[in-house]
Amino acid sequence: MLRNDACPPDERFQLTRGRLRAARQCPSPNQDLRPSEAVVDLLVIHNISLPPGEFGGPWIDDFFTNRLDPSAHPYFEDIKALKVSSHLLIRRSGEIVQYVPFHRRAWHAGQSEFHGRCNCNDFSIGIEMEGVDDLAFADTQYQALVRVTRLLMRNYPGITPHRIAGHSEIAPNRKTDPGPAFDWRHYRQLLARAPLGGPDEG
Ligand SMILES: [Zn+2]
Repeated sequence: MLRNDACPPDERFQLTRGRLRAARQCPSPNQDLRPSEAVVDLLVIHNISLPPGEFGGPWIDDFFTNRLDPSAHPYFEDIKALKVSSHLLIRRSGEIVQYVPFHRRAWHAGQSEFHGRCNCNDFSIGIEMEGVDDLAFADTQYQALVRVTRLLMRNYPGITPHRIAGHSEIAPNRKTDPGPAFDWRHYRQLLARAPLGGPDEG
């Protein structure tokens, strides 16, 4: 039997009402409306692991949904009262979890500034890579990140390769993530390789 080698559009990498079909949806209460005049034109890359340096547990979902059990680990006592979120998490396995629809404001950047504009949450999309600053990220994570980035660039034309920043770049005195182990060169090379295509939704 002949196989069609043309690569069909992956219907899972499309948006429905600001949600990525390929992502497991885990809605966070830590979100609100963006300012009405806001244009989404920045992508912010972070890293997170809970407890720090451990991967694969349920704790990031719990943290972003305000259900972290402080008795599960001493570190959780320090962070249990924080109300934060990101739009996406890309786990070591490449699994994508979505906490906030892209058109809504997630609470990931905190006090921040990009090219003279403050409060980056207003106009950015935040993606957490499961990891730590000084340990290489998994290739499956880069593959997933590139697919998501292309999708976001299609749907939010203000996001260009020059408008992708690390958290450490927009909050340099407070934050170090995604850290020196995040391979920006590799990420940007992968990103440059494929055409963008058209938007998925109007
Ligand atoms: Zn961060």
